[in-house]
Amino acid sequence: MNPQTFSVDGWVEHLIRPEIRQINAYHVQPAQNMIKLDAMENPYVWPESMQQAWLARISDLAFNRYPDPNVSMIRQPLSALLDLPADQQIVFGNGSDELIQILMMAMSGTNRGVMSVSPTFVMYDMIARFVGMPYHAVALNQDFTLNLAAFIEAMQTHQPALIFIAYPNNPTGNAFTRQQVEQIIESAPGLVVVDEAYNAFAEDSFIEDIARYSNLVVMRTFSKVGLAGFRLGYMVGHQSWMTEFDKIRLPYNINSATQQGVAFALEHYPVLVEQAVAIKQQRQMMVARLSSLDECEVYPSQANFITLRLKSQSADQVFTGLKQAGILIKNLSPNGGLLANCLRITVGSEEENQQFLAVFSQLLGESS
Ligand SMILES: *Cc1c(COP(=O)(O)O)cnc(C)c1O
Repeated sequence: MNPQTFSVDGWVEHLIRPEIRQINAYHVQPAQNMIKLDAMENPYVWPESMQQAWLARISDLAFNRYPDPNVSMIRQPLSALLDLPADQQIVFGNGSDELIQILMMAMSGTNRGVMSVSPTFVMYDMIARFVGMPYHAVALNQDFTLNLAAFIEAMQTHQPALIFIAYPNNPTGNAFTRQQVEQIIESAPGLVVVDEAYNAFAEDSFIEDIARYSNLVVMRTFSKVGLAGFRLGYMVGHQSWMTEFDKIRLPYNINSATQQGVAFALEHYPVLVEQAVAIKQQRQMMVARLSSLDECEVYPSQANFITLRLKSQSADQVFTGLKQAGILIKNLSPNGGLLANCLRITVGSEEENQQFLAVFSQLLGESS
């Protein structure tokens, strides 16, 4: 058939890879005028004086120039903050999502795939499809803990080039044990990426373990500590790995406003730490209150969100009830499987959390 006779849809079907046409685009829920507890954002803004200082800082930004390709303004203070050894390096991404893409682009075509657990962060699976890498996920146990034996066996079977471990995991909130993650790194036939997106709220990190493992990279993001709008993620690893990944990074992937903004935020690092402490306190309060509800099975969280399962009532209905009351959370139930009847609530400000708890317990017919 002559392509020139195609309709637009005909062209699309003719040329777009079938596995791309099958994907449902990443869905962001509309949230105007709602209490937003769905996307792990930090509820706090900067103090007024800091806002003013920030406005002064950007007033003379040279937007007519390309940004610094080396991101030195952030690289230096961040390397100091992390106490980075000389043989390790940082690669920055437009969110850690872009870093996942860079990692996969560097390894696609090797006839080897990507492995992670299920449920986990959806972008591992989605980006693997974008770049045409096979993706294998090992189911977590019923209580969201890791089935280490199954994972190690699956690594032997599939020989993945890349293994992603979100630590703590999203959307479940728990961290697997350090010993389990160490065993994965030690028996992996590929590069293990420990995704520490929730590090600010977690008890442990693998950043210092990079020195003793040749196949470990640690990835983090500023998104969950109050800078989601800037889109800045980074990964840390041995020089030789980072040199290769840096080749794939587009030259000016971190824009000037982001560089200034995150550099400015790092100059006020205690503010970020304070906000994370407040969120952890609110998390503790929320876990206690939610656990007191008969209807809720609350899972342990080391992140800035809480995942729970409703024992008998419908998560879909409670989700809709909250939405009608102007409160947006994440309904995990449509994912099915281990997430059947589960809800995920981002920890908000004290006021937001109290409003959520009031409406939520009322919907459940309980008092919290
Ligand atoms: C939110 C999240 C990210 C993505 O962060 P960005 O830097 O905003 O792209 C990565 N990994 C996990 C596990 C996350 O939950």
